[in-house]
Amino acid sequence: MASDLHTHTNFSDGSLSPEELLDTAKAIGLKYLAITDHDTVDGVKYLYENGLYPDKILKIIFGIEFSALNPDHDVHIVGYNIDIYDGALSDMINDITEARWTRFTEIIKNLQDKKYNIREAEVLQVAGSSRSIGRAHIARALVKKGAFVSIREAFDKMLGKGKPAYAPRYFPTVDEIVDVIRQSGGQAMLAHPGLVGDDQLVEDICRKVDAIEVYYPTHKPLDVQKYLSMAKRFNLAVGGGSDFHGVGSRHVNALGEYTIPDEVAEKFFVKK
Ligand SMILES: [Zn+2]
Ligand SMILES: [Zn+2]
Repeated sequence: MASDLHTHTNFSDGSLSPEELLDTAKAIGLKYLAITDHDTVDGVKYLYENGLYPDKILKIIFGIEFSALNPDHDVHIVGYNIDIYDGALSDMINDITEARWTRFTEIIKNLQDKKYNIREAEVLQVAGSSRSIGRAHIARALVKKGAFVSIREAFDKMLGKGKPAYAPRYFPTVDEIVDVIRQSGGQAMLAHPGLVGDDQLVEDICRKVDAIEVYYPTHKPLDVQKYLSMAKRFNLAVGGGSDFHGVGSRHVNALGEYTIPDEVAEKFFVKK
């Protein structure tokens, strides 16, 4: 058997609904599956409130992935086993959602100023059930209209940090995120340290979190060794996952294409 502790649904910027994600995970025989949407627990709330969690066969772990404030690096913190109805967690999510909406409007205006023919409604159509509107949705809408050939090109030319249509938004700090996750009963994990691009910063964050995502599709064997030794040094749980977003994303294309051993995943599972 195999497991995956890092996946996204269409409640953030993934392409599968939570139900489709569960069905796929069961069809390919995953044992543990964590759902870690960006800045929202709407997907896991949906499963819980519709009687789809807990599941008899698939062991589901509720999660969330936050982006932390950092001027130079992409720092993502995943929270596992959070209380999805926790007040402080909801407050943080609401602040981020609001900031995402404001930024969304700004980016669309920037694009229009640069003569791109794009309207908010077109992006919202692409975003579907997601209230956590992000640049990936805008990129997808632009690709759909033929303005760019790929999501990557849209980021490289317009939407990436420092590019012409980029607009900043509010981000909570690593400390704030870790606090909220722990206060709501969860464990905080530094996601994909290899994408942070600064090992000193990675070590600083290791002092604050409970776990580190050692196994990740873009981590080479040497990276895995390095992060395993950091996990040992900072006494952190070892995590991992595919960061599955759906077909045609910047990540793995299929669930099951990248998995981790069940023994790694089971430490994060809380029986309900
Ligand atoms: Zn991430
Ligand atoms: Zn992710």
